[in-house]
Amino acid sequence: MIFNLTELWGKAMFDYIIVGGGSAGGVLANRLSKDSKNKVCLIEAGSADSSILVSTPGAFGAHMFVNKFNWKFNSQPDAGTESRGHFCPRGKGLGGSSSINAMVYTRGHSSDYDKWEALGNPGWGFKDALRLFKKSEDNENGADEYHGAGGLLSVSNVDKNYYKLEDIFIKAAQEAGVPLRNEFNNNELEGIGNYQFTIKNGQRAGVRKCFIEPALKRENLTVITDAHATKILIENKKAVGIQYQQHGTFKEVHASQEVIVSGGAFNSPQLLMLSGIGDKDELAKFDIDCVFDLKGVGKNLQEHPAISVVFSSLKTDGYSLALGSLAKRTKEMIQFGLGKRGPLRHSVTRVGGYIKSSDDVEVPDIQIHYVPIMFDDHGRNFDCLMQHGFTAELNVCRPKSVGHVTLRNANPNSDPLINLNLLDDPYDVDVLVKGVKKLREIYSMPAYSKHTGEEIFPGKEYQTDEEIAQAVRAKAEHVYHPIGTCKMGNDDMAVVDASLKVIGIESLRVADASVMPSLISANTNAPTIMIGEKAAEMILADA
Ligand SMILES: Cc1cc2nc3c(=O)[nH]c(=O)nc-3n(C[C@H](O)[C@H](O)[C@H](O)COP(=O)(O)OP(=O)(O)OC[C@H]3O[C@@H](n4cnc5c(N)ncnc54)[C@H](O)[C@@H]3O)c2cc1C
Repeated sequence: MIFNLTELWGKAMFDYIIVGGGSAGGVLANRLSKDSKNKVCLIEAGSADSSILVSTPGAFGAHMFVNKFNWKFNSQPDAGTESRGHFCPRGKGLGGSSSINAMVYTRGHSSDYDKWEALGNPGWGFKDALRLFKKSEDNENGADEYHGAGGLLSVSNVDKNYYKLEDIFIKAAQEAGVPLRNEFNNNELEGIGNYQFTIKNGQRAGVRKCFIEPALKRENLTVITDAHATKILIENKKAVGIQYQQHGTFKEVHASQEVIVSGGAFNSPQLLMLSGIGDKDELAKFDIDCVFDLKGVGKNLQEHPAISVVFSSLKTDGYSLALGSLAKRTKEMIQFGLGKRGPLRHSVTRVGGYIKSSDDVEVPDIQIHYVPIMFDDHGRNFDCLMQHGFTAELNVCRPKSVGHVTLRNANPNSDPLINLNLLDDPYDVDVLVKGVKKLREIYSMPAYSKHTGEEIFPGKEYQTDEEIAQAVRAKAEHVYHPIGTCKMGNDDMAVVDASLKVIGIESLRVADASVMPSLISANTNAPTIMIGEKAAEMILADA
């Protein structure tokens, strides 16, 4: 589908072309087209359709099964996880991954951004990042030192916990000495409580809703969907346009100012490599002419490795698809359908927070997402969903394992080859082992006395550190936060500089999660939106 006609300008010539309408690309489309003088084109591989599955916060789990809004990548086997590959959902369509994510709104710790700056990226420290977080934000608690109000991105509180098991987890954490915390964005992370969410009035407040839809009526913004960018058109080391494939036909659009690649951490490096930007030897394997030898493209892939600590519940007051609970589930659907009420108006993972793996750690190094569900295999294990239980998924905030993305072949329609390399570094395993022990302690507190049943994962037979480490390697997954594959910096492996300009190529930037040089202790949507905001400011300043 095309909103506004590309042919409007005869040769389909724009000032700016953005590839990918996700968390960063959607922000760019809005901000760059705000000035009616800028002719902006957004190219998105997915469809223009929205769906109740996107807008309904509680429908999050459905995206693990439904293809329409999900690329559904699978990574290569990792030695660190007993040669298992991993399911890698990524959003497809306007809004990108912000249309299928769990809507948790976190930003991490100031030291995460100060590290980016120290890695050779002036202007990316926490002070600068905070200004941009506040610029985007419309927080229902209003503005303060750490929050903005009146911005485009709706951020809201949990109205209440809908299942007893959620309050029990918060209480048990306190019994185990973990403080209560309901604010994770004021630079104090440690504690367990309720997160804030990108949700408004029981509807997902993704980038599609908050940034793209308000800009669609602008005549200077052309949005082309079902359009898979296959190549960046480059002349004399200058990006001049994009070739894309739509309904089986190859087409081109041209840019007089800049091309901005915002395809996400897996697709952005793939598009660069398909266009001849990447490691020369790597490109030669696929007979791709090297336009610029940039060794770092696709390297430095980082992801939050995670392990779920799962117990069965002796009670039936959590969430389950067991036959005996179907009346409750039906009631919840009716409540939502009639008045946007009930648990479906919210994300499944309302409760969570941060803990330290040991007292020596300065900034918490484990993040927790808790669900009153028996959860396994990205929610695809129906045997688990049919039972009653509870799950704390804990992840390593600043992991040390590093993977890479490369090409599978020279066909742009092939999935990129993803090597997460999860748990390659023993540090990551060690943090998860300590986390499992801490979670067992929380689950053993009096608050759980009427609920705690059997330990399902890792399983009570895993007791020593070595045994728990073995269980971690056998079951570890990740929490959908890939970054770093077009990292910014000034070293040999940098792909973009601190202005997000691709090194060696004129008029080409990358702006999405792939430019983060190191993983932050947060869910990555808000930080990626912040990157979109900063990219837009830098592009407009250059113009
Ligand atoms: C299941 C899931 C749950 C998550 N939960 C949370 C959460 O609760 N909180 C949080 O903060 N973060 C969460 N995240 C992470 C967060 O959503 C992402 O980090 C963020 O959206 C990434 O933004 P991006 O702009 O880098 O890429 P994306 O938002 O993925 O956007 C990339 C866009 O580019 C398009 N594209 C790719 N290649 C091409 C091409 N060749 N041509 C045209 N278009 C192309 C894609 O279709 C997509 O629309 C989650 C992610 C997932 C997948």
